[in-house]
Amino acid sequence: MQHRIPVERYGASGAAMARAVEACVHCGFCLPACPTYRVLGEEMDSPRGRIFLMKEVLEGALPLEEALPFVDRCLGCLGCVTACPSGVNYGELLTPFREHAERSRRRALPDRLVRWLVLQSLPYPGRFRWALVLGHRARPLLQRVGGRLQALAALLPDRLPPQQGSPAVVQTAGEVRARVGVLEGCVQRVLRPAIHAATVRVLARNGVEVVVPPGQGCCGALAMHAGEGDLARRLAARNLRAFGDLVDAVLTNAAGCGSAMREYGLLFAGRPEEGAARELAERTRDVSEFLDQLGLAAPPPSLPARVRVAYHDACHLAHAQGVRDAPRKLLRSVPNVDLVEIPDGDVCCGSAGTYNLEHPEVAAELGRRKAQAVLQTGAEAVVTGNLGCMVQLEAHLRALGRPLPVLHTVEVLDRAYAGEPLVPAGRRPSAGGS
Ligand code: SF4
Ligand code: SF4
Repeated sequence: MQHRIPVERYGASGAAMARAVEACVHCGFCLPACPTYRVLGEEMDSPRGRIFLMKEVLEGALPLEEALPFVDRCLGCLGCVTACPSGVNYGELLTPFREHAERSRRRALPDRLVRWLVLQSLPYPGRFRWALVLGHRARPLLQRVGGRLQALAALLPDRLPPQQGSPAVVQTAGEVRARVGVLEGCVQRVLRPAIHAATVRVLARNGVEVVVPPGQGCCGALAMHAGEGDLARRLAARNLRAFGDLVDAVLTNAAGCGSAMREYGLLFAGRPEEGAARELAERTRDVSEFLDQLGLAAPPPSLPARVRVAYHDACHLAHAQGVRDAPRKLLRSVPNVDLVEIPDGDVCCGSAGTYNLEHPEVAAELGRRKAQAVLQTGAEAVVTGNLGCMVQLEAHLRALGRPLPVLHTVEVLDRAYAGEPLVPAGRRPSAGGS
């Protein structure tokens, strides 16, 4: 796409945004891969349409307010990047564009308030826990108010798991094959600390020494994708300091966090921290990719009963990090697991950070479609690599009256090593689809 973007006006990210616009040849191959285009059927709600709108705004040819509804509805799932034959790096356009837009847009007071509450609570585990306790008490009220708050109420967990402290170093018995740092994150630490515990046990079982630096925190993904670049950089800077050169690799077990950390170079482009940020980004790996490359050392773990498992590709693992085969290989290595593919598996489940709150109708439609596709497989459990997808899948499977267990890949490995069943007796669904 030809453009007249005054690149220098947009700082260090101007050139990357212009490159993405330039690479787009309008072919439209990305349209069927775009979840919002599939649901809404509007050209301007497609990747091609959004690239055009962002280009026009960056050139000064279109008022920002006219483009914002369409850009806001983008999930940031990067399905378009996988589908694009011309190599358009849509993420390098969207993320800086949102930061640029946030500096100039005017939001209504209720909108500002919700955003402030979200950005001041979710990235901080202590505050987030309190917010959940309060939200749970106010659930009947939220359900009556409707809209965004009703969508929020539907996602609130019935109860919170107990907090689990994590030792700073977890040693492995026998030969040490690698030494890694693990990001504990923020939301996952509160909603499902069992994923971190399973990650550490599986790594230790495979001869990997785990370091969990206490100074680490939220990866900054939520702020980054909300266009709050300064907050994202403050959060990311803590991780740059905490992980430093302590370890061979930094592992994440939430696709959204891994993808955000791999974008740290772009986040700090043109700033003094850029070198350290790029270096940390290069050392960041999803735990499934790391384990696959390392090779599962122990004898293949075994489950007590045969189980049909559907693997759901989290967008920020498959599209953003290109990790598709590794989790499937790990799951296939577990005897008694029958792995099945979900129809239209490349399409986002509608979770995407706080998208559920901002666009509840589109998010709910995508969640419903994904849950139906899972049920078509006849699976007895769903496995994925991202907490947001897990929450979304659980909510929509429950809404369809078929609450299958939803597990993280490392939880499957952990249970297999322990000889525990994936699907508790009594929760095995009757055979067949939805
Ligand atoms: S597939 Fe790529 S080149 Fe074609 S319209 Fe979409 S973004 Fe542009
Ligand atoms: S990131 Fe996802 S929602 Fe946004 S344009 Fe690309 S495919 Fe569509």
